[in-house]
Amino acid sequence: MLLNDPSEPGGIEVVALDADDTLWHSEVFFERTQRRFTELVRRYVDHDVDVDRALFEVEHRNLGRYGYGIKGFTLSMLEAAIEVTGGAIGTVEIEQLLAAGRTMLDHPVDLIDGVDDVMTELAERGYRLVVVTKGDLHHQQHKIFASGLTDRFERIEIVSEKDPDTYRKVAASMGVAPPSFCMVGNSVRSDVLPVLEMGGHAVHVPYHVTWAHEHAQHNGDVPTLASIRELPGWLESRRGP
Ligand SMILES: [Mg+2]
Repeated sequence: MLLNDPSEPGGIEVVALDADDTLWHSEVFFERTQRRFTELVRRYVDHDVDVDRALFEVEHRNLGRYGYGIKGFTLSMLEAAIEVTGGAIGTVEIEQLLAAGRTMLDHPVDLIDGVDDVMTELAERGYRLVVVTKGDLHHQQHKIFASGLTDRFERIEIVSEKDPDTYRKVAASMGVAPPSFCMVGNSVRSDVLPVLEMGGHAVHVPYHVTWAHEHAQHNGDVPTLASIRELPGWLESRRGP
């Protein structure tokens, strides 16, 4: 695997940031809604039925159709609820699941501690910033606007998949070669490994919960920061001469 090499010539010019669980809290709201799903659906099934597993499987099956985001998650909750209860789930519970999805969409953007300061500092230090996020186009645009951070970013890239080719295109759209590009995010699978593979830099800033679909196998050899507050110092330590 390619690893960041501080002795490499040329510095990092573009810093790309994941959005959900990197700039603002997201997964905690999915977890909360999933607990509601479990509570509503469990009433209809035997104790040994794993309703969380059923939801995971329906989500997995639907990812290619619905993509990432709350609307697809809500549809998958409804489908899993109908399926796992053999059609016994009531319209009252269906309405409550729909309401839980709407509550998630309406939730105000809750920035992760330090994000505002760090984005300002990076912009002041001359880094060019871009957001690279998966998810529902309409909702992600709304969150970015509501975050109050839009003026810090040169571009917003809402992508359907985070693979090496996507990152190659994002770097090209910013007019830099991969070695001048660094991605920052909470998912090793989506934000780190594909960027290292295309020859860029990447750093993992873990969030305290990770969506099951984002779990990745890796050798632990990825640059990791305890908090986004460590990012400016980490980037400076990699700056070219
Ligand atoms: Mg994320």
